[in-house]
Amino acid sequence: MIDAFRDLKVMRARERQVFGVPCPVCREKLPKAHPKILKPGQLCRAHKPYFRDPRSEPTGAEWTAAMNGEQL
Ligand SMILES: [Zn+2]
Repeated sequence: MIDAFRDLKVMRARERQVFGVPCPVCREKLPKAHPKILKPGQLCRAHKPYFRDPRSEPTGAEWTAAMNGEQL
Protein backbone atom coordinates (compact mmCIF):
# COMPACT_ATOMS: atom_id res chain seq x y z
CA MET A 1 0.00 0.00 0.00
CA ILE A 2 1.17 3.49 -0.80
CA ASP A 3 1.45 6.13 1.90
CA ALA A 4 0.09 8.81 -0.42
CA PHE A 5 -3.21 6.94 -0.55
CA ARG A 6 -4.15 6.91 3.10
CA ASP A 7 -7.48 8.32 2.15
CA LEU A 8 -9.45 5.45 0.69
CA LYS A 9 -11.70 7.72 -1.34
CA VAL A 10 -8.72 9.35 -3.01
CA MET A 11 -7.22 5.94 -3.62
CA ARG A 12 -10.40 4.58 -5.20
CA ALA A 13 -10.69 7.62 -7.44
CA ARG A 14 -7.10 7.24 -8.52
CA GLU A 15 -7.60 3.54 -9.10
CA ARG A 16 -10.55 4.24 -11.33
CA GLN A 17 -8.55 6.84 -13.23
CA VAL A 18 -5.62 4.46 -13.70
CA PHE A 19 -7.40 1.18 -14.37
CA GLY A 20 -10.92 2.13 -15.36
CA VAL A 21 -12.13 1.74 -18.92
CA PRO A 22 -15.67 2.38 -20.13
CA CYS A 23 -17.62 -0.82 -20.72
CA PRO A 24 -17.64 -1.44 -24.50
CA VAL A 25 -21.01 -3.19 -24.33
CA CYS A 26 -22.58 -0.21 -22.58
CA ARG A 27 -21.23 2.04 -25.29
CA GLU A 28 -22.72 -0.17 -27.98
CA LYS A 29 -26.04 -1.10 -26.37
CA LEU A 30 -26.71 1.93 -24.21
CA PRO A 31 -25.17 4.81 -26.15
CA LYS A 32 -27.29 7.37 -24.35
CA ALA A 33 -26.30 6.18 -20.89
CA HIS A 34 -22.96 6.80 -19.29
CA PRO A 35 -20.95 3.62 -19.74
CA LYS A 36 -20.01 1.87 -16.56
CA ILE A 37 -16.35 2.25 -15.72
CA LEU A 38 -14.82 -1.18 -15.27
CA LYS A 39 -11.68 -2.16 -13.48
CA PRO A 40 -9.77 -5.33 -14.43
CA GLY A 41 -11.96 -8.40 -14.05
CA GLN A 42 -15.00 -6.38 -13.00
CA LEU A 43 -18.47 -7.41 -14.15
CA CYS A 44 -20.86 -4.95 -15.78
CA ARG A 45 -24.48 -5.74 -14.92
CA ALA A 46 -26.04 -2.86 -16.80
CA HIS A 47 -27.20 -5.20 -19.61
CA LYS A 48 -27.50 -8.85 -20.53
CA PRO A 49 -25.44 -10.78 -21.15
CA TYR A 50 -23.18 -9.30 -18.53
CA PHE A 51 -19.78 -8.19 -19.63
CA ARG A 52 -16.66 -8.99 -17.70
CA ASP A 53 -13.55 -6.92 -18.25
CA PRO A 54 -11.09 -9.36 -19.80
CA ARG A 55 -7.98 -7.93 -18.19
CA SER A 56 -6.50 -9.83 -15.32
CA GLU A 57 -6.14 -8.23 -11.93
CA PRO A 58 -2.91 -6.30 -11.61
CA THR A 59 -0.30 -7.83 -9.35
CA GLY A 60 0.70 -5.90 -6.26
CA ALA A 61 3.78 -4.51 -7.98
CA GLU A 62 1.89 -3.57 -11.14
CA TRP A 63 -0.78 -1.91 -9.09
CA THR A 64 1.72 0.12 -7.12
CA ALA A 65 3.62 1.15 -10.26
CA ALA A 66 0.46 2.14 -12.09
CA MET A 67 -0.84 4.08 -9.12
CA ASN A 68 2.47 5.93 -9.02
CA GLY A 69 2.00 6.88 -12.66
CA GLU A 70 4.61 4.54 -14.09
CA GLN A 71 4.07 2.78 -17.39
CA LEU A 72 3.42 -0.92 -17.05
ZN1 LIG B 1 -21.73 -2.45 -19.65
